[in-house]
Amino acid sequence: MAMFLDEDSALVLPDSPLCKICNALDLAQMFQKGVRESHSITLGALATILSKEHICGLCGLISHLVSRSWLLDRHTIEDLTSVHVQLLVEPCGWADSSQPGPHTACAHRIQVRAKRPIAIHRTVMKEKIGLVMELQMMEDDAARFGRERAYHGRRVGAVVNLELIKEWMRICEEEHGLTCANVWKNVTEQLPQGARMIDVVRMAVVEAPPNCRYVALSYMWGNINTNYKTVLKNVEKRRHTSSLESVGLPRTIRDAIKLVQELGMRYLWVDAMCIVQDDPADIKIQITAMATIYGAARLTIFCAPTVIVGRGSADSPLPGLEPGSREEIQRIERIQSLSLAVPLRMLIEALAASEWNTRGWTFQEHILSRRRLFFTSDQLFFECQRDVFSEDIIVESSKDTAMYPGKSHGIGYGALHSIRNIKHQHSRYQAYAKAFMQMLEEYTQRQLTKQADIYNAFFAIITVFSRDIEMTPLDPHTAFLFGMPLSVLEDAMLWQPARNAPARNRRREQGLVTPSWSWAGWDISVVYFDIVGFMYGPPGALRSLVEEWVIVDTDGQARRIAIGRHLWEHHQNAKYRRPSSPSSALLVEEGASLAPGTLLFYTTVAFLKVRKVNNQLDEIAGQDQTQVPVYGSEFHSVFEVLSEASPPAKMGRIVLPSDTDTIRPLEFAVLSRSNMGCSPETYDEQVFGGRYEGCLLNVMAVTSSESTVCRKKVSERIGVGVIAEEGWIAARFQERVVRLQ
Ligand SMILES: [Zn+2]
Ligand SMILES: [Zn+2]
Repeated sequence: MAMFLDEDSALVLPDSPLCKICNALDLAQMFQKGVRESHSITLGALATILSKEHICGLCGLISHLVSRSWLLDRHTIEDLTSVHVQLLVEPCGWADSSQPGPHTACAHRIQVRAKRPIAIHRTVMKEKIGLVMELQMMEDDAARFGRERAYHGRRVGAVVNLELIKEWMRICEEEHGLTCANVWKNVTEQLPQGARMIDVVRMAVVEAPPNCRYVALSYMWGNINTNYKTVLKNVEKRRHTSSLESVGLPRTIRDAIKLVQELGMRYLWVDAMCIVQDDPADIKIQITAMATIYGAARLTIFCAPTVIVGRGSADSPLPGLEPGSREEIQRIERIQSLSLAVPLRMLIEALAASEWNTRGWTFQEHILSRRRLFFTSDQLFFECQRDVFSEDIIVESSKDTAMYPGKSHGIGYGALHSIRNIKHQHSRYQAYAKAFMQMLEEYTQRQLTKQADIYNAFFAIITVFSRDIEMTPLDPHTAFLFGMPLSVLEDAMLWQPARNAPARNRRREQGLVTPSWSWAGWDISVVYFDIVGFMYGPPGALRSLVEEWVIVDTDGQARRIAIGRHLWEHHQNAKYRRPSSPSSALLVEEGASLAPGTLLFYTTVAFLKVRKVNNQLDEIAGQDQTQVPVYGSEFHSVFEVLSEASPPAKMGRIVLPSDTDTIRPLEFAVLSRSNMGCSPETYDEQVFGGRYEGCLLNVMAVTSSESTVCRKKVSERIGVGVIAEEGWIAARFQERVVRLQ
């Protein structure tokens, strides 16, 4: 009998009926001894198991689990008769992996294994769900196997237990020390001038008191009535006690106030209410200080339910605060006198499914907060630098080094934090470039309601990057230009359009400078990947191959940019030498007459033909379905760069719009020496010589035209790729100033 539990009816479940096959299993024995892969138990065809959903408790649990993980409701036509289900029982994680010798296994889970049909596989990979399929044992049965309650399942009721949230806060604040207290180096806890808070005791919007301890809220505004926002007209009135009682607050904000009250805290920061929405000066000060506002909050509440029509806005409740606001209730069955449950979705799965996770502004709010309380549709999560706690598994006593299901942190976690511990400046820059790439990939996947926010919604990330990268903090306004980190410009320029990103989709926003060499110049999501081998990690530069970069700032000032100091100065086998500019002041002088956003550099250019490579997606998908296909879509493809010889030899590779004209040669400009590992398909070694480290040059394909303003040749990025050094030397290249806009 299937039963959904709430807190009161716990522990009184009768045993569920079982089908003949499930009845023949000895679950107690399986949990006691474990079931290894070599002895996995075949349970039969998935289609048969699904048909027994309502007559067998275990088949019911498995059906529920597979349906949710594989999104079966979206694959109604899929034939599942050839899919077979196997069961294993294995320890789930380790209580402490720092101890030598055999690890202490913490709890056992039933693993449900079945091979995903290709269509389902693709959906699952895209949606980042169904990462593992397991059944957990509830805590009440742990003692029967001589195990601790820890790491077993916990009952999740219709509403959250507030004591649990308090306990999570206590553990983090008292036991995690500096790891969690002092997340952002150089992020001051000094709130900006004029910072306001909602005082949930007085129900007013007040000036933040000194050393204010507060909670921040991250939510989606949506298109709802805007009367609740603080504006010049009501800001004075809202200072008075009880003034908020008469304001029709949206549900998310009402719930957040209630939660802060019930947790016994006093101040809550909500952007729409604490920034005066029609005061440009206030908006500017507060937005610039976003890194501090989220970074210094004691806790940030995230309202991240799975999207439901009509609820995906600020009118959405915090799921689990009030009865009836949760989408999925934990499913538990009593099977052979053991309580088994389908674990609720893990944090990363729950976030991937939420619309909150698709919005541009919420990205930095997530990254910057030091303690995060996620209200997702099924359950609550608490994430800090050290742990991920959730309602449905007991892990509060875990050690730093423990491993347990669901400990995977959310987006972009860790990358930034690891940088500050690197003392060696060279490695520090490399880690910095890599972390920046990860952040950008995440950020550009998100949508902004207002395109004009493209830099603002990322500014807090830029702030912490600027402060953490150098031993002495940099000014975020000058450390980044047009969304690009100048310290690692050579690496940052190597972005590629993500799969399915439309081609030639330039971002043109009134009053915003968005040059083509920056990711911000295009209304697409970007990725950093190695187009040579698809496996060597993000691309990078070993050495800059231009003498000097000059960027025309938004105010029209031409600025010299230091060549990446993390790059190698010397290369043993290198034959290509960067050209020397005829005059050192030339670029700066020229820049003064060019449009803001122009990147100027002196380099070599050559015209070369390209030829489309077979779609990588087809090749990869055909051979190994477990690999995520990285490239090849109807919009962009990988092209080979060809020599002028007949027949042409392969010189390198580049990603270009799929419909690129292959009859006429394209103009290529050299940027830097590549750090990419090189596979034999990249270029014809018998023509251009053997491979060695750094033998590939990072190049950009550009289109050029004469500017009507300055009467000079200006260029735009089309794509970025690599060319073998020997091939470039054989090509008839010329030296010139490239002006990228
Ligand atoms: Zn069964
Ligand atoms: Zn912590």
